[in-house]
Amino acid sequence: MHSKKIIILGGGAAGLIAAEQLSATCQVHIYEKGKTIGRKLLVAGNGGFNLTNAAVDKDLYTQYTKHPILQAALQRFDSRAMRVWLEKLGIPTFVGSSGRVFPEKGIKPIQVLQKIKDRLVTNGVQIHCKHEFIGFDAAQKPLVQHEEKSVSLEADAYIFALGGASWSVTGSNMNWLNYFEQLKVSTKAFEASNCGLEINWNPDFKEKYAGTPLKNIQISIGSKLVKGEALITNYGLEGNAIYPIVPPVRAALKTETATHIALDFKPNNSHQSLLGKLKGKRLKPKNYVYEFNLDKASFALLKAFTTKEEYLAPERFVEAIKHLKIPVQTLRPIEEAISTVGGISLDALNTDFSLKQEANLFVIGEMLDWDAPTGGFLLQGCFSTAMLCADYLK
Ligand SMILES: Cc1cc2nc3c(=O)[nH]c(=O)nc-3n(C[C@H](O)[C@H](O)[C@H](O)COP(=O)(O)OP(=O)(O)OC[C@H]3O[C@@H](n4cnc5c(N)ncnc54)[C@H](O)[C@@H]3O)c2cc1C
Repeated sequence: MHSKKIIILGGGAAGLIAAEQLSATCQVHIYEKGKTIGRKLLVAGNGGFNLTNAAVDKDLYTQYTKHPILQAALQRFDSRAMRVWLEKLGIPTFVGSSGRVFPEKGIKPIQVLQKIKDRLVTNGVQIHCKHEFIGFDAAQKPLVQHEEKSVSLEADAYIFALGGASWSVTGSNMNWLNYFEQLKVSTKAFEASNCGLEINWNPDFKEKYAGTPLKNIQISIGSKLVKGEALITNYGLEGNAIYPIVPPVRAALKTETATHIALDFKPNNSHQSLLGKLKGKRLKPKNYVYEFNLDKASFALLKAFTTKEEYLAPERFVEAIKHLKIPVQTLRPIEEAISTVGGISLDALNTDFSLKQEANLFVIGEMLDWDAPTGGFLLQGCFSTAMLCADYLK
């Protein structure tokens, strides 16, 4: 009996899980331009490997771009299903802080990748490394280059899983974008997501406090509020409380003449309760650190971004503690972002993740224009799109 031949271009998170799913019923080939597969997975594993997030149902779906195709993929394969898939592969997981799901202690990222590779090899998936997708031939079949020769690939269907545009050292360099534009597929320019913010610190502040975390703060822009930690860096702010506010900051940078975020250094104390500390006292700035229990970096930041009048008047200083406006210059460059938005528009796809232009070309993972915060949601999004696509092709 003829089984379908499926070619997957790109051996990252999305491509590998699609290959695993399809290998039960199809002949699967992966073409990867690097010497090895799964390099971004290993990078992701370097600083706490969040394979998914324990959030389910609405708590999961609302983390992502509200597009019916993406939402259907998340419903088809959610974080529970992801954990079951990992468990069956021999990768038990546990839920850590803020719902992040990690491989069980002692299982290293390289072992997670090896388990996936072993499964693919057992299931007969053929992996062709050092094969770079370089465009389409006249019949709109993908062309790959290998050792200076280019060949057109023949299959029943082609799945593109070429990644986004950050961390090009891992292989995702967005060079493929114009090949799809030539097919008249709707695309969007790539932009950084889950990245740091650039802030024009004064030199003294930067010298003293770069590398210092701001703990238990709340950051807001518009109606978006995030509690957590941010790291002061040479160029601005980075960290868990920063990444979720990047989408509204990105939007504001495009439309507003000046973009500000607001820091609340005492999110667990109301404005009234802080004002209560002033009763019967004639506070001087030298008393602020003790009375309001501020760490040195927070105090220096408050001093740097308040006017003299605000700084000297305790009531106004309390207002700043609860709502310190800090101007944002720009986002950090795409190259160093944890993820990117942009790429192929979700509107360019049919519900099975095939292109409206070419029904046997499918696109999954971070190549697509969707957004989600860190904490396991990015890999989950890649895996969900891969699973839904594989369902249709099986
Ligand atoms: C520092 C960092 C930490 C992260 N941590 C986490 C985390 O803890 N949890 C989480 O959920 N997400 C995390 N992410 C995000 C996550 O790793 C990515 O969203 C995910 O790997 C994207 O998967 P993908 O398969 O779409 O693309 P990729 O994993 O980028 O794979 C794309 C593959 O396609 C190949 N390719 C590209 N162009 C071509 C071509 N022309 N021809 C052939 N092959 C090509 C590339 O070499 C690559 O192997 C992190 C990302 C970074 C950078």
